[in-house]
Amino acid sequence: MAAILYQKVEVSGLEQQVVLLKQKYLQYFEEIAQVYPLKWNIEKDDTNYLKPNTTMASSKLENDELKIWFFLHHIEAELNYKHSITNYTFFEKVSLIYLEFILLHELKHLQQFCDGLTTEKYKAASNKYEDNPYEKEANEFALELIKADSEDNYELLQYMINGGKFNIYNQNEWNEKIN
Ligand SMILES: [Zn+2]
Repeated sequence: MAAILYQKVEVSGLEQQVVLLKQKYLQYFEEIAQVYPLKWNIEKDDTNYLKPNTTMASSKLENDELKIWFFLHHIEAELNYKHSITNYTFFEKVSLIYLEFILLHELKHLQQFCDGLTTEKYKAASNKYEDNPYEKEANEFALELIKADSEDNYELLQYMINGGKFNIYNQNEWNEKIN
């Protein structure tokens, strides 16, 4: 009997996708940059451990610079841990859509910082991450933009962020759907 060959996403591949997404949203990013001097950072985390449901990215206003960090090892672990995919092309699509969601979520945070959000205000809004209105706003913003771009990608993302997993039984159906 042949063993099933599951595919894995890798940090190097995710890094390339982040570069593509950065180009896609460059104009939007430049608009924010007019309000604040801006530096784009892709932080790489060297601790290569499997830890799902941890921080995927973060953004900060620091020393007059707006920064986004992508924790690519966390994202890699999250995707590989949750999904059992044999179709590599499909896994690439999944990771790209997921990264786009993370990027747009963080871009909304940057906009919130431009509009006067501070760490103190953020913490005062809610003790729990899930209930924080700034997080809800960032998620809604990201989902809206993805939906405007593609209803199918939006559906796939909704499935993912609600805990849905991809496997050998559903991967082809989703793959055809999102094209
Ligand atoms: Zn957030």
